Amino acid sequence: MAVYVLGHKSPDTDSVTAAIAFAELQKMLGVDAVPCMQGTLNPETEVVLKKFGYDPLEIRTDVSGEQYMLVDHSDIKQAPDNWDKGELLAVVDHHKIGDITTSNPIFFCTMPVGCTGTVLYCLYKDVYKKDIPANVAGLMMSAILSDTVLFKSATCTPQDKEAAEALAKIAGIDNIMDWGMEMAKAKSAVEGVSARDLVFRDYKDFDMSGKAIGIGQLELVSLDLVDKIRDDLYAELEKIKAEKNAHSIFLMLTDIMKEGTDLMAVTDDPSIIEKAFGAKLEGKTVWLPGVMSRKKQMVPNLEKACAA
Ligand code: MG
Ligand code: MG
Ligand code: MG
Repeated sequence: MAVYVLGHKSPDTDSVTAAIAFAELQKMLGVDAVPCMQGTLNPETEVVLKKFGYDPLEIRTDVSGEQYMLVDHSDIKQAPDNWDKGELLAVVDHHKIGDITTSNPIFFCTMPVGCTGTVLYCLYKDVYKKDIPANVAGLMMSAILSDTVLFKSATCTPQDKEAAEALAKIAGIDNIMDWGMEMAKAKSAVEGVSARDLVFRDYKDFDMSGKAIGIGQLELVSLDLVDKIRDDLYAELEKIKAEKNAHSIFLMLTDIMKEGTDLMAVTDDPSIIEKAFGAKLEGKTVWLPGVMSRKKQMVPNLEKACAA
């Protein structure tokens, strides 16, 4: 019986490549693992898969009656539909523990590092002692560059750097940073994409003390790229807030060169932004220097502000 390996909704490079890398490892262990994704590829992941010779994965958003494994998340909101009507066999992740539960013991491996690719590197090397195929190593290394924003994010750890360097050697990539910049440029592509698709390109829903909060993020090599579409993006955030009946919808416009985020916000209560970040909205946005990580800098601060 096939076992599906899935990353989170609005798949990013880590979610897609970790599904492939964990499925490859499972196959080495005799499991008929099939990597899938819950949505279409973002432009960065497209470039990454092409470079290392992979086709887009099968799209699967429901696991009713199936056996499955999750990578890069363990939150119900990000998991496939009917997660409780299938059998979860494993989780490999690097986020805070989510709310998925099981009735049987499972393989559950999460580490406080910058990327699922780094956790998988440890699983291949230290736990199962398997060689990583060159193209799989290339995918994992790319995921680390993506999730740690070229090692600049607050989420980046020494293990991430060490893993990326070792993986680059296996993959035959001489200059990691050159490849990282190529990826960053692909990730920054906004032209010809609708405001709605841009907000949902890398988007997550959260429940913070009973408040529905949505946070999207665009990582850009320059904020100039969105100059002309700021009003469209804001209008889209207002629409999404109404559709989801949410308390707040945020869009992080992250400048990966200047290392900060221009946070666009539509919210019932602007004071949570002040409580969370000690800075006030000026019109539609507020500049947050040094903020690049949704997981480590946005979510914990907003959770505290919402609970207060
Ligand atoms: Mg992810
Ligand atoms: Mg990740
Ligand atoms: Mg990310």
